[in-house]
Amino acid sequence: MATPTYPPGLTADQLSYLITSFTDYSLAHGLIVRPAPSLVAQNPNNAIATTAPVTLWPSPFPTSLFTEARAIQTACNLLYACVAHDETWLGDLITSLSLVDDFIANLWAIHTRLKTENGGYRHKFSLGLFRSDYMVHTVDERPVGIRQVEFNTIASSFGALSSKVSDLHRYLYKSGAYPPTNIIKDISLPGNEALEKLAEGLIAAHKFYVQDVSAEKKNYTPPPSRSQTGSSDDGNSSFGIMFVVQDGERNAFDQRWLEYHITEKYGIRVFRIALPEIRKYTHHVRPNFELLFVPPHALSSQKQEVFEISVVYFRAGYGPDDYPTQQEWDTRYFLEESRAIKCPTVLTQLAGSKKVQQVLAGKVNLEKFVDDEGMKDRIFDTFAAIYPMDDSEDGLKARKLAFEEPHRFVLKPQREGGGNNIYKEKIPEFLNSIEEDKWQGYILMELIQPPEVENIVMRNGQMMQGKVVGELGVYGSIVWKEGAEGKVEVVHNEEAGVLLRTKGSSSEEGGVAAGFGCIDSCVLV
Ligand code: ADP
Ligand code: MG
Ligand code: MG
Repeated sequence: MATPTYPPGLTADQLSYLITSFTDYSLAHGLIVRPAPSLVAQNPNNAIATTAPVTLWPSPFPTSLFTEARAIQTACNLLYACVAHDETWLGDLITSLSLVDDFIANLWAIHTRLKTENGGYRHKFSLGLFRSDYMVHTVDERPVGIRQVEFNTIASSFGALSSKVSDLHRYLYKSGAYPPTNIIKDISLPGNEALEKLAEGLIAAHKFYVQDVSAEKKNYTPPPSRSQTGSSDDGNSSFGIMFVVQDGERNAFDQRWLEYHITEKYGIRVFRIALPEIRKYTHHVRPNFELLFVPPHALSSQKQEVFEISVVYFRAGYGPDDYPTQQEWDTRYFLEESRAIKCPTVLTQLAGSKKVQQVLAGKVNLEKFVDDEGMKDRIFDTFAAIYPMDDSEDGLKARKLAFEEPHRFVLKPQREGGGNNIYKEKIPEFLNSIEEDKWQGYILMELIQPPEVENIVMRNGQMMQGKVVGELGVYGSIVWKEGAEGKVEVVHNEEAGVLLRTKGSSSEEGGVAAGFGCIDSCVLV
């Protein structure tokens, strides 16, 4: 796909100049991560950061496939909102998974408990900040289309840093740090507004929440706890957005950029807090379960500040490690039962499970959720073959394939965050190592064959040159509520920028945070 002259060979002086420009731009623009403990033994007050792993050059990507991936995003957003909203359809899938997967069972239990004990959900709107990931698929080394790797509905990361990598590569071109190439031009470097667009999604949800609460306030007596706030004596409580994060998050700056943008551009307070800490600073107000938050620094001051949380944005909570004790599960339930908009709800998180992707890859199921015929075909065209590992007819076929032709497949559990899959020849051995009745918790997916391109990966100042492959993520932002006849009513739906992640072509995984890959940007060819 790429021409042999790209990226161009550089003299030692040119390379040194380029790397200096690249590194200084990254540091100056907050294109950074916290260093791994193996890199920096001591990090007093967390004051040391390092450049994020990024490619020195943008990687070539076919224009038409880039355009198509973006063009179908709002339809994909709607598809997953509809899946999350269909409690019966989703419930059928998830209850059978729950039999073999404790993590999924715990999430599903939050939903069922809410429905039975609590009289149902208190929130009106749901927010999805999604990312649909694709690789270009090649046959005989020729690109034939994009194939979806997976669809993320929780903690879709790297939006902010990805915007900054697009800016970095454009700067290196404009500043002359890149020598002339026949590929990099003004029009071949697309703008990338992932940071702004993801923030817009959070702001849209925030506004719907505030409007909803304000509309109710005409006949509303503020609950006693609100009168503790300086600003709410007049009935106008202060609203804020909560980011639920992991302690010791190395990718904190990607999240911080969103926070800064929201506060600086929109004047809305953002509270960043780890799941185990939340209950110390929050309570509900009955009967509507507004989620009130007392910022930790204000706990002991005389005049307490109290904020009503409009949106709970999860950048944690996607895997079992985030729930070391029952207390974290109880907190997730507590947040779920509140009136605040969740990004995502438990149901939306479950809609993003690999099992759902596998079931949607059967056209009949896709048909149930996508009305537009043309769009249905376009989405379907992005699907690779995915098989269940249960005892259905397809499942039995897959079990055979997994042992007879493992080199064609990747085996995936219902997990997020990278590093969980089993590849190729390791599949049979792995399946033999677990009980057969657990197999149905996995899906078997055909390997996509992405084209190799040449690039240089910069990680902690070290250069690695060689063949790489890319994975294009398209972000989406959607806000919906239940409308007429119990159907999904969409009130905000946008494509929200892109992420190109690149990894060495011999590496199986591509997760940046998991340490396998790096952030890249597209130069369209
Ligand atoms: P996670 O939710 O952990 O990110 P993914 O399904 O995205 O799980 O898989 C992790 C990585 O494995 C991907 O980023 C990609 O590099 C690789 N991968 C997953 N599925 C395929 C596939 N069908 N073909 C080729 N590579 C894949
Ligand atoms: Mg992934
Ligand atoms: Mg994922």
